[in-house]
Amino acid sequence: MDEVTGAQLIAESLKTQKVEYMFGIVGVPVIEVAMAAQAAGIKYVGMRNEQAACYAASAVGYITGRPGACLVVSGPGLIHALGGMANANTNCWPVIVIGGSSDRNQETAGAFQEFPQVEACRLYSKFSARPSSLEAIPSVIEKAVRTSIYGRPGAVYVDIAGDMVNAKVERNEVRELSCCPPPPVSLAASAAVERAVSVLKAAKTPLVIIGKGAAYGRAEAAMREFVEGTGLPFLPTPMGKGVLPDDHPNCVAAARSRALLQADVVLLLGARLNWMLHFGLPPRFNPHVKIIQVDLCAEEMGNNVKAGVALLGDIGAIVTQLLTCVCKDGWKYPSNTEWWGTLREKIAANAKISKALALKGTLPMNYYTVFHHISQLLPHDCIIVSEGANTMDIGRTMLNNYIPRHRLDAGTFGTMGVGLGFAIAAAAVERTKIKPQRVVCVEGDSAFGFSGMEVETMCRYNLPVIIIVVNNNGIYSGVDPDTWKEMAKMGDLTSIAPPVSLLPEARYDEVMTAFGGRGFLVRTTEELRDALQLSLDDWERPSLLNVLIDPSSDRKQQEFPWLTRSSL
Ligand code: ADP
Ligand code: MG
Repeated sequence: MDEVTGAQLIAESLKTQKVEYMFGIVGVPVIEVAMAAQAAGIKYVGMRNEQAACYAASAVGYITGRPGACLVVSGPGLIHALGGMANANTNCWPVIVIGGSSDRNQETAGAFQEFPQVEACRLYSKFSARPSSLEAIPSVIEKAVRTSIYGRPGAVYVDIAGDMVNAKVERNEVRELSCCPPPPVSLAASAAVERAVSVLKAAKTPLVIIGKGAAYGRAEAAMREFVEGTGLPFLPTPMGKGVLPDDHPNCVAAARSRALLQADVVLLLGARLNWMLHFGLPPRFNPHVKIIQVDLCAEEMGNNVKAGVALLGDIGAIVTQLLTCVCKDGWKYPSNTEWWGTLREKIAANAKISKALALKGTLPMNYYTVFHHISQLLPHDCIIVSEGANTMDIGRTMLNNYIPRHRLDAGTFGTMGVGLGFAIAAAAVERTKIKPQRVVCVEGDSAFGFSGMEVETMCRYNLPVIIIVVNNNGIYSGVDPDTWKEMAKMGDLTSIAPPVSLLPEARYDEVMTAFGGRGFLVRTTEELRDALQLSLDDWERPSLLNVLIDPSSDRKQQEFPWLTRSSL
């Protein structure tokens, strides 16, 4: 007799579906699931909060194209993971969450941690189901994994009744399923491709926008050929950075506002016209802009701005279709147009302002100084994880990416607290490579706090992540230690302290040393450079640089307020 438990069926089914990583927190009833996962050859990373575990699992999905699994216990465990599911689903990243739940004979009886988990996950996922028997586990897992990566990628949930984990069934009574293949690739209609090309050729001020859909879709080779073959200027979205290198001559990121405002035709490749792209509307966009929209999700077409041409299908394939069509008569957008002149002029002017701020030399340092020195030392192939308000926004403009899928940040949902989970996932994946790359996690002090205990996870698994906390003593801004002390003398801080403030000069570096990693307290550019170099040289353990900056340091003057939207 060859019997198999529910836990083994879950683990083996995940492995069959090429799910290689599991992040979670165990407890009754899922401990055996994690053990079975390891036995099946899946790497298991035990985390400190389910939210961070789910962020990590979704980052694996984005980086590898195959979902990571997030394993949680019932009730509160699953509820903590909902934040990660919502973030993944909003980012269009695949992740599979496996939740233990109450035993079948205790349902609705007020069982321990009982919660309507399948129903709860519906709003946060594309698919949410509970196998009704042990025999059904492989097909439900196959469908869940397939759903997470087919069509628009997203989160999926599989609920496992507690009593099914250790229950057994004859192996030959379970139908074996093979691995679901990668999603089928679809091309755009050729008439639409021709229309798109004629709109593009007629453009005076064209712009290509490269989104994280292009990164997820592994469209980098096609994209490079297209941009270099057509000579068009391109602008990456935050996580579109690196599909083509930020220092590519056609990259106009440093003239972002001007490029968006004056483009008459935008070729939108795997990016949504949501808040991140100012809805595609005035005052940030030209009211007459024609959008050539490329996406694999038909429902996305026309959101906020009617698509001039809608090209439905896979970005890599469609970009190749466009290039073939555009090159038929040897057309190329000239490099000496007025448009290129305008863009180049703006790029040079903006670079000058950032440089002046970076080289100010005053202490405490400002954001620009910190990022200037970091950018000089970071290797080109490193993975940059970033979150925090100013830290992420300014960091994005100053820390270059050169390789696709090497930037992970707060994303479409603007979620703070994702950084450490993402970094753990990236480091776990890198570790399996012949030539692993560094993972550098650039955090605001507030952002760091959301998942700070994951530092222990990094130390436990010897994941050599470098965390740089850009510490301004608060959310957006903070106060200096002397002012804080004065306030404390004046009365109860809960009545007086600005809600944005956090403990001034908090020793986040000591959080890292507490668990055996390297910690550095940094106040000057020399200390910053030394600490970063020492950390880069150490592949054995994680480091944390606690970089104290001017609590009133801010972004340089912006042309437009944040989150502008005119009435429709
Ligand atoms: P960004 O944050 O960079 O603007 P979004 O997450 O808003 O990017 O948009 C990504 C878009 O890419 C989504 O609309 C998604 O449907 C689409 N997408 C994802 N993968 C592919 C692919 N392989 N081909 C085409 N579109 C894709
Ligand atoms: Mg801060």
